[in-house]
Amino acid sequence: MEPKTESHSRSSKHRLTVQILIGMGIGVVVGLALNLFLGTIGETTGQLIRKVAVDGVFRLAGQVFLALLQVLVVPLVLVSLTCGTAALNDVRRLGRIGIRTFGLYLMTTAIAISIALFAAVLVGPGRGFGLDSEATFEAATAPSLVDVLIGIFPKNIFQSLGEGNMLQIIVFAILFGLALTMAGKAGERILAFLNDVNEVIMKLVWIVMVLAPYGVFALIARTFSEQGFAAFAPLAKYFVLIVAVLFFQLLVVYPALLKVFSGLSPRPFLSKMREVQVFAFSTASSNATLPVTLNTVEKHLGVKNSVASFTIPLGATINMDGTAIMQGVATVFIAQAYTMGLGLTDYLMVILTATLASVGTAGVPGVGLIMLSMVLKQVGLPVEGIALIIGIDRLLDMIRTAVNVTGDSAVSCIVAKGENAIDIDTYHRSLSELEKEDS
Ligand code: ASP
Repeated sequence: MEPKTESHSRSSKHRLTVQILIGMGIGVVVGLALNLFLGTIGETTGQLIRKVAVDGVFRLAGQVFLALLQVLVVPLVLVSLTCGTAALNDVRRLGRIGIRTFGLYLMTTAIAISIALFAAVLVGPGRGFGLDSEATFEAATAPSLVDVLIGIFPKNIFQSLGEGNMLQIIVFAILFGLALTMAGKAGERILAFLNDVNEVIMKLVWIVMVLAPYGVFALIARTFSEQGFAAFAPLAKYFVLIVAVLFFQLLVVYPALLKVFSGLSPRPFLSKMREVQVFAFSTASSNATLPVTLNTVEKHLGVKNSVASFTIPLGATINMDGTAIMQGVATVFIAQAYTMGLGLTDYLMVILTATLASVGTAGVPGVGLIMLSMVLKQVGLPVEGIALIIGIDRLLDMIRTAVNVTGDSAVSCIVAKGENAIDIDTYHRSLSELEKEDS
């Protein structure tokens, strides 16, 4: 009896990953078909279909799924990171992990934007637009470093939790975790309880994953049915260039960094990231993807909770390599479109500001574009240039978010390897074997 149940659960679990990919594929096809079809039929019928299918069923299923994912984020980060910190039980080691993680996040972002700038200057996606600037768009301004630092520390933890302020929650969870280890028997009791809560939340993540094929389908079908493709033609070069650099970061830069900094083989990493990337693609939000990223990094790549629970939420908040790539290409694109030159200092300034802007970019849809205004302002480019690219940004947002979460996971593996906090056996084992144990 036993083996039969196991093999059944393995095949059904393995099917889930495939089903999520199928859900995404069908979502793209149905969305695109609707987009084309709705333009060819009469207005009343078109409106009715849009109301019932796109804004009715798809919206309902997509938003409910997104809410289920998002509701897990805050409790998961709080509990998981508290347990992770308590398990480390070593302030010096915690500090070392923090510095390494932060350094690697800055480095991957700086590499990403440098490649993006180089490629954009080479290809020239904005040449020939010949626009004049009338400067009307309001740019976002960068807060001072002191304000940023003050803002990390929570004054009211319930407010931080309510707002989902990730950096404040991270600070609180670390302090709470440290206090637990110093509080003797009382600390041990609470820690045992929190470890149990953590297990239960991870089961909740699994429940939401079971709904993922439908949720992913609904989110993607709705986005693609609304995406007007006429806007793409004049920006084809810009779009293709960003996608090419995003794939370069994904398939060349991360594998190389993994190999050089940790000696880990990139193959298992890339194949196991697929599920996380589909979630990031369909939600366009690193934050909403966080439960899935954490699950994959811990359960499928073997990173210990003590490292993953810190690196992954921090990465979802401050590490946005894909976003930085878009900002690099967009800056050069806008400079070329308005025939304004950029000098070497300007490029260095773009690298610096975009890297810092990526730290300040929350992992939610569309923020990257808002932060772009900060970068443009820094080098004196017309911020209204954003209007040129906003029409096609949603699809780029989806793809770059997939890169953002992959970067977080790569750094997590590198840091874990350096700390001897990764189970190499799990890292190399196939997904179907691991999923069998998971269920
Ligand atoms: N959507 C991106 C993320 O959540 C941020 C952005 O580029 O707008 O990672």
